[in-house]
Amino acid sequence: MINNQIAKKLKNDFPIFSNNHDLIFLDNASTTQKPKQVINAIKEFYETSNANIHRGVYKLSQKATEKYENSKKIVAKFINASSEEIIFTKGTTEGINSLAYTLHSILPKEKNEIVLTEMEHHSNLIPWQQLAERKKMKLKFIKMKDDFTLDIEDAKRKITDKTAVLSIVHISNSLGTINPIKELIKIAKKKNVLTIIDAAQSIPHMKVDVKNLDCDFLVFSGHKMLGPLGIGVLYGKKDLLEKLEPFNFGGSMIKYVSFEDAKWNVSPEKFEAGTQNIVGAVGLAEAIRYIEKIGIENIEKWEHELMKYILKEIKKIKGIEIYNSEKNTAGILSFNLKNIHPHDIASLLDDHEIAIRAGHHCTMPLMKKLGISGTARISFYFYNTHEDIDKLIKALNKINKKFNN
Ligand code: PMP
Repeated sequence: MINNQIAKKLKNDFPIFSNNHDLIFLDNASTTQKPKQVINAIKEFYETSNANIHRGVYKLSQKATEKYENSKKIVAKFINASSEEIIFTKGTTEGINSLAYTLHSILPKEKNEIVLTEMEHHSNLIPWQQLAERKKMKLKFIKMKDDFTLDIEDAKRKITDKTAVLSIVHISNSLGTINPIKELIKIAKKKNVLTIIDAAQSIPHMKVDVKNLDCDFLVFSGHKMLGPLGIGVLYGKKDLLEKLEPFNFGGSMIKYVSFEDAKWNVSPEKFEAGTQNIVGAVGLAEAIRYIEKIGIENIEKWEHELMKYILKEIKKIKGIEIYNSEKNTAGILSFNLKNIHPHDIASLLDDHEIAIRAGHHCTMPLMKKLGISGTARISFYFYNTHEDIDKLIKALNKINKKFNN
């Protein structure tokens, strides 16, 4: 269980807070802070085990290889996959781009439609726009309703026998909406559609089980879950990864090379060309260990509690516009104040040492649909406390008074 007292204590694990005493960090959807356990694991790897992997016959290289492979096992277990189904990437963006680049070779020829939602991050939109242009495919978007949730009836209409791919965000980074991905995957499976989940905002905050979801692919970023920057995960069902062509070519991904051609290694090695972010994998595994020690369900519950707490208070601010589906929300809250640009809100909050995000949050089409240019966005992680929220509300009231009196 996490309560306010425990959240306060957990903050002590994060050196960023002792180095920035007054910092109230409410931009966790962008990236989370790193506990000393993760920082130390990275340091320890460089100090005790640094060597390239899979190549050396010497002990140090074997030690590094073991750490890398063990990290894969830890990631796999965390999402209930097997380690052969885990490909390390730079992050969510690279995972989706890689899929959009190579997926076409396994799509049935008679299917030429890709279904997304109106709330996708640009990184789950532009790669598909590019594929659609290259291969003459068509994009369709599941509509969002006025309550900021997806229109399931619209999904049923849009996912048809012509649909090749359904690629959807689990938790919207702009709205906090938790989408019913299991239900959507079920609808897609009936039409023999490949399913891809952008789990960038869900994996750090709630239990995600790829077997239970039955998704074909799932992507996420390590840096949004206490891990280091530059490491991410592409999960794919084993049989699909075996069929899929590689998207990067070079060292480590081959079985045999001649001057004329090459034969690929087995999966997942065939997808990991070149020197990998070994220390990133080690750092991510340590982040998962840390999360598991606290308990992902406890994290989810505490963030839910923080959301209830903030919603009650923030709604009282005069003239506030909130873009949040209260019943189906994760710890992300977008809003606007009358007569104040969201960038000004963020900048004025920074004067109070409060860090939040402002802008379109890489969801420009969604903002256009909402008829706004952007929002101010608060996003929690388990180290946030009631006091963080109290200070935020106090500062927001001050700012609002200045502009709207
Ligand atoms: N999808 C969603 C829902 C996100 O929130 C983000 C990051 N804001 C991304 C994709 C892209 O993640 P990354 O920048 O780590 O590749």
